[in-house]
Amino acid sequence: HPSPVVTVDGPSGAGKGTLSSLLATKLGWHFLDSGAIYRVLAVATLHHDLPCDDEDSIVPLATGLDVSFETNAEGTRIILEGEDVTDDIRTEQVGAVASKVAALPRVREALLRRQRAFQQEPGLVADGRDMGTVVFPDAEVKIFLTASAEARAERRYGQLKAKGMDVNIARLLTDIQARDERDTNRSVAPLVPAEDAVTIDSTDLDIDQVFEKAMEVINSRL
Ligand code: C5P
Repeated sequence: HPSPVVTVDGPSGAGKGTLSSLLATKLGWHFLDSGAIYRVLAVATLHHDLPCDDEDSIVPLATGLDVSFETNAEGTRIILEGEDVTDDIRTEQVGAVASKVAALPRVREALLRRQRAFQQEPGLVADGRDMGTVVFPDAEVKIFLTASAEARAERRYGQLKAKGMDVNIARLLTDIQARDERDTNRSVAPLVPAEDAVTIDSTDLDIDQVFEKAMEVINSRL
């Protein structure tokens, strides 16, 4: 019997990362941040000076991607070819490139096995866009976490402000809408809820309320 999987999919900024890592900690399970893999691939694409739509060059880069996730008491560090890229992958620029390379069908295919390798005892919480639809279609629990684009832009604004970054909220909203559009309308693995997913709308909920709802869903299905 394969070990159980909880998938958490949804648009950027809905709080998937926070929810998924809380769930993984609470359950004592492994955690897959699939967006981080696309972001690391984006950094590699930029390092190699490749155009974001050069599928023939990016596929081998994806297949051979030398990335590792090193977790200790302080959190998880992400290492690309021996270099710590944990902070580099979180910029808006890298997010935009990630969503472009993620639109290439053979690139997604090349990353499937790497993502599925995270399914290990005693269980896995997988965070992304297509965890419940493509990567783990047999997952026991599928959550689709969403929120209005405005609420997501405001949260992102708060996070960036807190880091002392100079940001424009209108610009953030436009970027979020553009990324949603690309992620939802791409031909391969578009951002849609799996048929058997439970949707949680976090627009008017805080993280404790979202966590509680998610645990209810998990307890009813496991
Ligand atoms: O979740 P995050 O913002 O880190 O993901 C970065 C980009 O990677 C997303 O905008 C999306 O285009 C892509 N992605 C994806 N499939 C996933 C996870 C992320 O296409 N499972």
